[in-house]
Amino acid sequence: MGPMRLADSMARLGSESAFEVLAKAKAVEAAGKHVVHLEIGEPDFATPANVVEAGIEALQSGATHYTPAAGIPELREAIAADAGRRRGIEVRPSEVVVTPGAKPIMFFGLMALANPGDEVVYPDPGFPIYQSVISFLGAKSVPIPLRETSDFVFDLDLLRSAVGPRTRLIVLNSPQNPTGGVLDRSAIEDVAELAQRYDCWVLSDEIYSRILYEGEHVSIASLPGMRERTIVLDGFSKTYAMTGWRLGYGIMPALLADQIAKLAVNSVSCTASFTQHAGIAALQGSQQPVDDMVAEFRARRSLVVEGLNAISGITCRWPKGAFYAFPNITGLGLTSSALADRLLLDHGVATLSGSSFGAAGEGYLRLSYATSRENLQEALRRIGTAAAELTR
Ligand code: PMP
Repeated sequence: MGPMRLADSMARLGSESAFEVLAKAKAVEAAGKHVVHLEIGEPDFATPANVVEAGIEALQSGATHYTPAAGIPELREAIAADAGRRRGIEVRPSEVVVTPGAKPIMFFGLMALANPGDEVVYPDPGFPIYQSVISFLGAKSVPIPLRETSDFVFDLDLLRSAVGPRTRLIVLNSPQNPTGGVLDRSAIEDVAELAQRYDCWVLSDEIYSRILYEGEHVSIASLPGMRERTIVLDGFSKTYAMTGWRLGYGIMPALLADQIAKLAVNSVSCTASFTQHAGIAALQGSQQPVDDMVAEFRARRSLVVEGLNAISGITCRWPKGAFYAFPNITGLGLTSSALADRLLLDHGVATLSGSSFGAAGEGYLRLSYATSRENLQEALRRIGTAAAELTR
């Protein structure tokens, strides 16, 4: 057999380094070394008990078959009510598409809207899947660098120079992975103004909207004239610690929702039936587990940010949302990926290199604080030892 022949587009498809580093860290563990895991972005809490019970009940009562491609009507209604109320907008169930996790909304949304050659603007550093899918589709990646000095919110001049007549779509993510940056109302108004001026779509990734430590979550969909050009992406993975259930959704104009459902029919068919029933319980049950989880993240945020700032050669801003710290490590004299490798192999701490989130992430690491305070303390101790070696 000759070399495997793949479609050309596969060479343009990227990946998510969290999954790669997790595999690397598992190999280090298999070789007998203890590793503290700060690489993967998922809540370490159990899915709330009422949600698990609803899932089991659904399985036992026969929710084990196909569902409509866009989701069961009861869940689409529940999402429309909940997501609409939280954003101060009226959402109809026909504007909701349920998918296995929120990631397909990213993939399907870009696929439905971007032609080869169209420009798509996205944050750098940012969730790596945006850039991966943009280039997979043959569209043109236009990164907007986010600067630490601007609290990882894009500068208006950089945004203005990125968006123009060739822009098809702007990707927003607030609260942001990997920086924890949050777009305030005025930044969102700037994007809305440009999107309307150049007649482009916005994909607003709001998966971390409930994990916010300061200020309010403003959805661009709530601004005048934006509903008809916005896809809101959200889901259950982070808010309800349901990453493995695979349940997410998009909110968009009904005509586009039909097209996204068609992409679902052509690929996944539908989202798991019992998972959707569990989602209804998550939305309609007590929200106390979400509040408790966010309170714990807030305490860990202090522990991590204060701990990092106490290490010579590292500085760290206070993330305003999500559960990631994005410390500046340029004082340690190594590139981000060399430092991440050294921390994993020599010190047993798995982190992600900032550069795996885009070129503008060089000089930073991403640390997920979705792990216990004991683990975080141990990780800080090990990072401190590594930093002392490097600055000696
Ligand atoms: N958007 C961002 C910014 C994320 O970090 C993630 C998960 N890592 C997702 C979307 C997708 O989440 P899921 O598919 O589990 O709903």
